[in-house]
Amino acid sequence: MNISFSPPFIDQAVIDEVMDTLRNNWITSGPKVKALETELLNFTGSKATVCVNSWTSGAIMMLKWFGIGDGDEVIVPAYSYCATALCVLHCGATPVMVDILDDFTIDPELVRAKITAKTKAIIAVDIAGLPCNYNRLKEVVNDPEIKGMFVPFSSRQADMGRILLIADAAHSIGATYKGAPAAQQCDATIFSFHAVKNITTAEGGCICLNLPEPFDNQVEYSFLKLFSLNGQNKDAFAKSMGANWKYDILFKGFKMNMPDICAAIGLAQIRQYPNKLLPLRKNIYQRYCEAFKSFDWFIPPTMKDDTREASYHLFPLRIKNITESERDRIIENIVKWGVVVNVHFIPMPMLTYFKSIGYVIENYPNSYKQYACEISLPIYPQLSELEVDFIIAAVESSVQALNVEKGLKVLI
Ligand SMILES: *Cc1c(COP(=O)(O)O)cnc(C)c1O
Repeated sequence: MNISFSPPFIDQAVIDEVMDTLRNNWITSGPKVKALETELLNFTGSKATVCVNSWTSGAIMMLKWFGIGDGDEVIVPAYSYCATALCVLHCGATPVMVDILDDFTIDPELVRAKITAKTKAIIAVDIAGLPCNYNRLKEVVNDPEIKGMFVPFSSRQADMGRILLIADAAHSIGATYKGAPAAQQCDATIFSFHAVKNITTAEGGCICLNLPEPFDNQVEYSFLKLFSLNGQNKDAFAKSMGANWKYDILFKGFKMNMPDICAAIGLAQIRQYPNKLLPLRKNIYQRYCEAFKSFDWFIPPTMKDDTREASYHLFPLRIKNITESERDRIIENIVKWGVVVNVHFIPMPMLTYFKSIGYVIENYPNSYKQYACEISLPIYPQLSELEVDFIIAAVESSVQALNVEKGLKVLI
């Protein structure tokens, strides 16, 4: 059997929606993007939703929106995809990395310890779709002592009066926090709609705005729409309407808008997400847990507790008492069965570029520890029961093979 890791969900509804876009003769930003933004607004209960062409673009836009640049610091977890730190570097600021907790989320106490007068934002990452401890992170940014350290440089920073809290929700669309959509927790929550994510537009993303007083989220929505389109006061769709050719450039914008042909894919998916696609992911999570729970090597991933429930984006399997190279051998065995697995994530300080600018993995011991024993298993709606059983058999046998190997070594 050959089982891929995370193919996109493409059914007839997706194909129909894309075909509809093609037949309407309007393929870049227009009515499909607007419809997707409305679906996301309703689904997350946010105050505004801005679709863009990737998570990375959304993050750069929000950091720039807040006026973050040279000399500023942004706190991020060491355990994430590179984009979480690259967006900060692209703004000229410094990513200050901190270690994670055993559930893979950023450690709020380490965040607090790393805050300086230069700290302008925190990007918390919902790894595997599990929301971070937002209660604690909000307490930290609102703590009078921490607020007293905040030195505003832009008018938006002055209006905020504290550190900006951003959620890297690339994995966590559909996750909940205290029973409500987790996307309501931060000032800005950014989804990724890259091809491997729970909802995809091939490439894309969305900024969910929940800015506090005195911000007007509608005003900021309008600003961000222009910001994503060169700062141009009329988009191509508006210009296509009759004698409406005249436009102006109001400020130095980016080109980060989402095209309609991409939005169409996500639109057809999100309509099926809460009642079909998300429950199917949860089912697979439960089947894995059920199958592995009798093994003493199994460390179950936290996907639900009293305050939060994940979006089941990944199944981060962890195996007790193994080294990084033993983990790699287990993966080799699983791959021999025809099952593609992954590791989420190689901590950023282990990557060549981040090493070259001075990050060292020894400063993030728990990130390394979690990485060294982690194997992400396939989890997506199209997986059949037979395939899930096959993956379970492949994992059990591959871990067993390693234990036999290790047992033999002990005997010799
Ligand atoms: C995928 C991913 C991103 C980047 O998303 P893009 O849409 O590709 O820019 C950022 N953070 C995390 C944790 C991711 O997994």
